Amino acid sequence: CGIIGCVGHDDDTLDVILDGLETLEYRGYDSAGVALAGDTIDVEKKEGRLDVLRESIDNGDATPSGPIGIGHTRWSTHGPPTDANAHPHTDESDRVAVVHNGIIENYQALRDELEADGVTFTSDTDTEVVPHLFGAFLDAGMEAEAAFRRTLDRIEGSYAIAAVVAGDDRIFATRNDSPLVLGVGDGTYYLASDVPAFLEQTRDVVYLDDGEVAVIDADGWRVADRDGDAVDKEVSTVTWSA
Ligand code: GLU
Repeated sequence: CGIIGCVGHDDDTLDVILDGLETLEYRGYDSAGVALAGDTIDVEKKEGRLDVLRESIDNGDATPSGPIGIGHTRWSTHGPPTDANAHPHTDESDRVAVVHNGIIENYQALRDELEADGVTFTSDTDTEVVPHLFGAFLDAGMEAEAAFRRTLDRIEGSYAIAAVVAGDDRIFATRNDSPLVLGVGDGTYYLASDVPAFLEQTRDVVYLDDGEVAVIDADGWRVADRDGDAVDKEVSTVTWSA
């Protein structure tokens, strides 16, 4: 299972995401998916190998497009490997897309609460509570980064999460007991479960710690703690080759 995200690429975002996911195949997976974000969010996700996803994209009516991308390989813990359970997951209005590795331990209570509020779920995953919560905070008028943090306040468990919002040029990400690293390119920035996912693009890496929130856009990157206070992070240069 693995996560990749990238910002700052003009035309080849989809390729960077798919190639990145390929380098994460060694971690094992049963499904794969991508979301490309611009003014709207395009999601393509499939049970099975990455080839199945690539084929579905090639045969589709429209290629997912947008300057910002996130991708996921899934190792099912909650819900069987199906197209519907593959990530990214979205809120009801497709305003938010989320990829997640790990387990949301308190998902059932959150799902009950959201369903009582009239939210319709489209998967059996623990993950799907995350985009619905995020979307609800946005609907309540919160700024996107604040809404992301509020969402994190509600979830318990182990996770690496990356999220995009339609019409917003940032990727929001965090980790708790699951790996997540940040890649610093030249006007391009990356988030991934492991360095090889973006090693073709950059060797400059920021290793994130549990509880940190990373925000990347085409202008740069920053890391803060859960309260929103900036954390000084060191950029290290990877000298090995994948
Ligand atoms: N628990 C989530 C699911 O079953 C994420 C699994 C993973 O780490 O890929 O969909």
